[in-house]
Amino acid sequence: ISWGGVVLSVLVSLVVYMFLMTRISARRLASKLTQTLSLSQAQFQTLYDAGPVPYVLITEKGIIEDPNKATLRLFKGTEKEIEGTSLFERLVFDESDESKEQLQEKFRRNIPLHEVECKVKHDDEEVRWVLLSIFPMQGTVKKGYGLATLVDITERKQLEQAKGEFVSLAAHQLRTPVSSMRWYSDMLLNGDAGDLNEKQEKYVGKIAKGVRNMVDLVGTLLNVSRLEMGTLQMTYADTDIHELCDGILDELALDVEQKKLVIDTTYNVEPRFVTDAKLLRIAVQNLLSNAVKYTPEQGTVGLHLSTHGSGIEIVVSDTGLGIPAADQEKIFSKMFRAENARKQIANGNGLGLYMTKAIIEEFGGSISFVSEENKGTTFTLVVPQGRE
Ligand code: ADP
Repeated sequence: ISWGGVVLSVLVSLVVYMFLMTRISARRLASKLTQTLSLSQAQFQTLYDAGPVPYVLITEKGIIEDPNKATLRLFKGTEKEIEGTSLFERLVFDESDESKEQLQEKFRRNIPLHEVECKVKHDDEEVRWVLLSIFPMQGTVKKGYGLATLVDITERKQLEQAKGEFVSLAAHQLRTPVSSMRWYSDMLLNGDAGDLNEKQEKYVGKIAKGVRNMVDLVGTLLNVSRLEMGTLQMTYADTDIHELCDGILDELALDVEQKKLVIDTTYNVEPRFVTDAKLLRIAVQNLLSNAVKYTPEQGTVGLHLSTHGSGIEIVVSDTGLGIPAADQEKIFSKMFRAENARKQIANGNGLGLYMTKAIIEEFGGSISFVSEENKGTTFTLVVPQGRE
């Protein structure tokens, strides 16, 4: 035996040994990885199948595949009955900003849908509210598919409704006594029950002012709850828009005079306009009374009307406090008041703009504004002509 032969056979055995060891450890690693993978798949599958949130896989046409148990409970059906049907056809989108067709189109274009409010209606008349989200399955074998979740928010909706009904009931009950308090305090001030001495006049004046604020608040609460509950009836009729605006300005005349404000109006529209006068009045009154309220003495408040297609554009401007840039995003939120307004003017509830926006959207119009702190604010409403 030559030394060369020995070295060669040792080397060969070493290579064979290393090859075998590598294979064994690779197999061990593979089996460990497979175990981990199947464990996480089992965990995911259990979560998917038995979790409380309804999950469904939908094809590019929106057809349901693989609904989990929570989905079957939500739709009140068996897997056989639910699978193969259209998800979008099972949902009602009557209160969402986008129509069913628009949402379907978004999904087809692989745009995720986030928490769109919709309803599931059942044959037994039960309605459940859900938040629909759809995540496109791009980059997977299920290309064009989507994973949809339907989070049940029925209880929250029922609570909101109960709250709305309570506010509406309380406001209704308060309306009559508050109106009669206003009536009698005004009579006392007018001297209908005899002359008042200076002190009496001062006190009754304060009562009358407080009561007037309460009347306004009760009216606002009623309108907000009607808007939120969808019980506000739109009645379109021929309206004199010049008269409507002049009426609002007359109501504000006392404050305008006290603050020595300049009122600048241009009515570049025909007076006749078909709209719901009561609602449009609330919207314009909110903007004008804000402009007067948030403008310091000797400022200017503008009201400009012009045509906009077959509708009108109403611009309310002022040279007042302005809305700080950081607060502008939240200005239409319910009960929101900007910091500068809160500090300088105590009187306010943050419901006016919220309501104005809701009314204008109800008309199918738009509301926008530009504002700079300590310079002023301009609100623009575009209101389409209604049909009688
Ligand atoms: P309120 O005036 O009762 O507080 P609104 O809903 O009418 O409630 O307005 C919300 C907030 O928007 C106000 O508190 C104020 O901060 C701001 N705002 C509205 N209009 C104006 C305006 N013309 N100038 C400055 N701030 C305004």
